[in-house]
Amino acid sequence: MEPIETFRKDFPILSQRVNGYPLVYFDNAATTQKPRQVIDALSNFFLSSNANVHRGLHELSNRATELLEESRQKIAHFIHAQGPEEIVFTKGTTESLNLVASSLGSLLKPAEGILLTEMEHHSNLIPWQQLAKQRGLRLFYLPIKDKEGGLQMEKLEEIFTHNRIAVFSFTHVSNTLGVINPVESLCSIARKHGVISVVDAAQSAGHRLIDVQKIGCDFLAFSGHKMCGPTGIGVLYGKKEWLEKIPPYQFGGNMVLEADFSDSRWKDPPHKFEAGTLPIAEAIGLKAAIDYLCQIGLDKIALHDEQIGSYAYSKISSLPCIIPLGPKGRRAGIVSFSIKGLHPHDFISFCDRYGIALRGGHHCNKPLLSKLGIDSTVRASFYFYNTQNEVDQFMEIAEKCLRFFKLPCN
Ligand code: PMP
Repeated sequence: MEPIETFRKDFPILSQRVNGYPLVYFDNAATTQKPRQVIDALSNFFLSSNANVHRGLHELSNRATELLEESRQKIAHFIHAQGPEEIVFTKGTTESLNLVASSLGSLLKPAEGILLTEMEHHSNLIPWQQLAKQRGLRLFYLPIKDKEGGLQMEKLEEIFTHNRIAVFSFTHVSNTLGVINPVESLCSIARKHGVISVVDAAQSAGHRLIDVQKIGCDFLAFSGHKMCGPTGIGVLYGKKEWLEKIPPYQFGGNMVLEADFSDSRWKDPPHKFEAGTLPIAEAIGLKAAIDYLCQIGLDKIALHDEQIGSYAYSKISSLPCIIPLGPKGRRAGIVSFSIKGLHPHDFISFCDRYGIALRGGHHCNKPLLSKLGIDSTVRASFYFYNTQNEVDQFMEIAEKCLRFFKLPCN
């Protein structure tokens, strides 16, 4: 099989020049680029099948409904869910996690605890924080060991044993540290203590194989746009028995079985969580993205992510003035670092002049960065279409930047 970076030809956007230089797109943790196959799926839908789903009795509506439900089926298969009824369409990871926090949260009892880790994205932190405030619940954090980001696993049993933890919600892959958490062990320890597990797979879906049954989680959330799909579409996986038990998140059209002036009854899951018109074209685009990724192979994509992540980490760490974050060993394709004496934004603007797209800031990980004593970092994040050659080009510019700013440690 061909090297996976040869799939670049499917991404028209990548062949452009930016500021006179070939684009080097290293901002994939924020959003990935879209292959022609996904763009075509979206435009074909609008060109030939656009209609609202479920309610129509006409041909186009039936066609749109069929395409949407095919997408749900494909997603179920992609993450090894037991069936499409375990797949709820949302607008992204953030909405999926808000849905769980709100709906599952309404079943929690005062003084019960929610456990998060110290590396959670604001999307997996703030919904739980708000819930805890509103319902008198207690929040706990599983600490990281150091700036490499390994979790203090030995504390997990202790936290579960001594506190009435009801829910453990954590990220599979950290969007700042690039650390890959031992998701199966975390869920299995939670299960042993009767704790419900929620996995934020925003940075892992489409980057590595996701098997919800093997992982053993109760809920799992991800976004289409971080895995070659469109923006505006996300997924919440929930075990069937949980989706049956928890109440709807929003109310309105499509989710109602019966309604009169005094009361209403809901459809079965997943539809009871899908009030209003869904992002139909986007869901169909997500199916095309999954087909595309599966054709490459998730195992190959994961290996490429880990190899390019490790290569970039070792190169970046060898530069003067750089403080790298995240694991020295196995890691995802996300490398963050700070620079002694230089603000990340100066570094990123310098690189942008040479066509290199990076991201800087707190990456919606403010509490984590405060704990590490850092305000913001530069983040380079990769996908299968990035090459080692691009990392080498980036390194040349990074060295030029450090010389340009005449940093004292240089
Ligand atoms: N969790 C993690 C780990 C993320 O990296 C992100 C996106 N940066 C999110 C949640 C939120 O995803 P979205 O903005 O697509 O809802």
